[in-house]
Amino acid sequence: MSWERQITLKSARELEIMRQAGIINAEALAAAGETAHPGASTADLNAAAEEVLKKYGVYSPFKNYPGAYPYPTSTTISVNEELVHGIPSSKRKLREGDIVSIDCGVVYDGFVADSAITVAVGEVTEEVAKLLEVTEQSLYTGIAQLVAGNHVGDVSAAVQNFVEERGFQVTREYTGHGVGRQMHEGPQLPNYGIAGRGMQLRAGMTIAIEPMVLIGTPLTRVLADQWTVVSRNGLPTAHYEHTVAVTDNGPQILTLLANGTSPGRIQVPQL
Ligand code: MG
Ligand code: MG
Repeated sequence: MSWERQITLKSARELEIMRQAGIINAEALAAAGETAHPGASTADLNAAAEEVLKKYGVYSPFKNYPGAYPYPTSTTISVNEELVHGIPSSKRKLREGDIVSIDCGVVYDGFVADSAITVAVGEVTEEVAKLLEVTEQSLYTGIAQLVAGNHVGDVSAAVQNFVEERGFQVTREYTGHGVGRQMHEGPQLPNYGIAGRGMQLRAGMTIAIEPMVLIGTPLTRVLADQWTVVSRNGLPTAHYEHTVAVTDNGPQILTLLANGTSPGRIQVPQL
C-alpha cells in the first residue's frame, strides 16, 4: 500500500488544543453510545453526537470528506458486520444483540481529534462480547507501545499479536494514521506488522491508533453505497480508536473524557 503523508510534530500548546478537541470528541461518542438502544436508528446516534459538536461550536472533518461522493454526516455508524464508514440512516433501526461502532472526529481551533468506540445494544452473544473486549484491550496494548524511540512496527505487532493470540483477525485494508491539522497525516499505522520495523516514533507525534477486528477472516468489501466497509463473511466486527500523543513522558491519550475516563467499555489501564 503506498501512502505517504506529512508528519508534523506538535508543541505542548498544540497538544493542549488537541486535548480539548479530544474531550469534545469523547463526549460526542458517549452521547451517541448512550443513544444505542433497541429501536433507535443510526441517524439518532449521529444526531446525539452532532448535538455535542453544536454545543461546542465545532464541526466534524468527516462531513464532506472526499470519496466517490462527499461523506454526508459527522459520524460513521457501523452495525454488526459493518466494520467502518457506515452511513447513519433513519431507516436503520438497532435491535437487541446488535453491536454498533461509532466513529467521530472534531476540528477544534484548527486541530483534529479522531476516536471510535463499539457498543453493545442490550445482551450480545458470548463470542461478540469477547470480540469487543479483545478489540478494546488491543487498543490499549498498542497504545502502550506508542513510546518515543519505538518503531511503528512495534505498535502494529503488539495489536496484531494480541488479537490473533485470542483467535480474531485484524484488517489489512484500513489503518491508523497521524493526525493534527489534517485528519490523515503520517505516519500510517497498520494493525499488523513486525516489531522493530518501520519509522521510529518521536515525541510530539500524534497518532490515531484504531484496531479493526474481525472473526474468521480479515477480508472486507465495500457496499454499493461506496462507503460502508463490511466483513466479507458477514460476521460481526469491532473498532476502537484513540488519538494519542507520543511524549517524553510516555503515551498521552487525547480522546478521553474531561475526567480522564474513556467513553468505551473498559477502564483505561495505567500506561
Ligand atoms: Mg476515526
Ligand atoms: Mg482514524
